[in-house]
Amino acid sequence: MASPAWHYVLKFIITGDAAVGKSSLLVRLTDQRFLANPDPTLGVEFGSKLLTLPDSSSSGSGPTVVKLQCWDTAGTESFRSITRSYYRGAAGCLLVYDVTSRKSFDNVRIWLADVRAHADAHVSCILVGSKRDLCEGDSPHPRAVPTELAQQFANDEGLLFVEASARSGDGVEEAFIRAAEEIIGKV
Ligand code: GDP
Repeated sequence: MASPAWHYVLKFIITGDAAVGKSSLLVRLTDQRFLANPDPTLGVEFGSKLLTLPDSSSSGSGPTVVKLQCWDTAGTESFRSITRSYYRGAAGCLLVYDVTSRKSFDNVRIWLADVRAHADAHVSCILVGSKRDLCEGDSPHPRAVPTELAQQFANDEGLLFVEASARSGDGVEEAFIRAAEEIIGKV
């Protein structure tokens, strides 16, 4: 019998303040590219991607392929509270802040409360510190959120955590893979 194209379909939502890089993470995931000056009115709202989980062949049944269906909150951040229909059925949630913006990190608490109030109780959340590339290289921007602080917050709240860069691609697939692995581990 032919193996299926994918084993799981997982809905993901991406939340966080405006301009933290949510659309850019989605474009990097689905299209392997980075737009330095994206048009905010063209914010990506939906993207789909097949991901093969790296170490899933131990069962002898071959690698696990997941189909991610990702929804971005493009343009709705200012409303803060997003409709329940958006959260409905989400298995995973990326809570995104910008490592150069303390405010965007502080606001993750509000986004998390919103997710917990409206999403399914078993949703897997991963905290994503975006724009990591800005704090690296020859003339780094000041980092506003120490990695240890974010890691501690993630531990306290039971979240996965990764720092990522849509610009370089570092950490982007990792974020989705780690969340997908946690979700599948619960099935
Ligand atoms: P959104 O409003 O949260 O969806 O944010 P966008 O994806 O539209 O990104 C906002 C701005 O940050 C844009 O100018 C992006 O080019 C920039 N940006 C997003 N991700 C990164 C990143 O990883 N590194 C850098 N240097 N800039 C980024």
